[in-house]
Amino acid sequence: MTRDGTASRAAATATVAGVEPGEPLLTLEHVSAGYGPFRAIFDVSFTLNAGEAIALLGSNGAGKTTIARLCSGLIAPTSGRVLLGGDDIGGRPANRIARLGVTQAPEGRSVFASLTVAENLALGFRATVGAKGVPGALDAAYALFPRLGDRRSQLAGSLSGGEQRMLSLARVLVHPPKVLIVDELSLGLAPIIVEEVYRNLATVKAKGTALLIVEQHVEHALALADQVVVLTRGEVSYDGPVLSLEQLTEHLLPTAVPEPLASELESG
Ligand code: ATP
Repeated sequence: MTRDGTASRAAATATVAGVEPGEPLLTLEHVSAGYGPFRAIFDVSFTLNAGEAIALLGSNGAGKTTIARLCSGLIAPTSGRVLLGGDDIGGRPANRIARLGVTQAPEGRSVFASLTVAENLALGFRATVGAKGVPGALDAAYALFPRLGDRRSQLAGSLSGGEQRMLSLARVLVHPPKVLIVDELSLGLAPIIVEEVYRNLATVKAKGTALLIVEQHVEHALALADQVVVLTRGEVSYDGPVLSLEQLTEHLLPTAVPEPLASELESG
């Protein structure tokens, strides 16, 4: 790879070249995966189309994060295939999958506490766009998150948790990948910051990035989604168009209601 990352971007373009908006970009085919002997997801299949967004929903422990980890290469499938534009990327190392254009945000790596906001951003941008591209990328980051611009000289370690999340997100959003996986992005963030983050996600999507969204604030995910996938105990229980919250609640409720409770519910 060249110092400015040209080769990695070329690789990303080459791998998903020819995938037009609305065509299959990331496909899970009969994927199972877990942790050691524990199987967390079973025979999961769905397709994320280029430029579209999936809201991946399900109750606690349903397997949403496991799927996010699978797609970004943090864990490998035990069976089935994970296809990116036709290439099986299942089980490839996370850094190679990132180079192919699939990124999870916020990235696992946290910010460098002893560096300023500007230094943190510059460090990330130098790796993706080279030294010459850094000033332009910084301006773009501050335009996305003005709050980071206000705090550009502040040490990252002294930012609030939400601001630190913005900082790691800004590094990704300035040069959006082909597929962006967001897992519980709004966790612990003030509502006003969540709004700002989702506004930026909508912008990134409008520019062509496909999104796989795992989000407790279901309404935020649904507002951006073209498709909904619901997981129930590791299996897909719904895959289709966006439904109303009421309709979705039906799919999100545990399927096996214990017999005594079921009759109680029926009798009113
Ligand atoms: P939540 O909404 O609560 O975050 P989730 O839908 O994201 O849940 P996962 O985190 O994918 O669910 O977990 C699926 C199952 O895998 C759960 O039963 C969980 O306990 C288990 N699991 C997750 N991570 C590990 C791990 N590192 N080791 C062992 N089991 C794990």
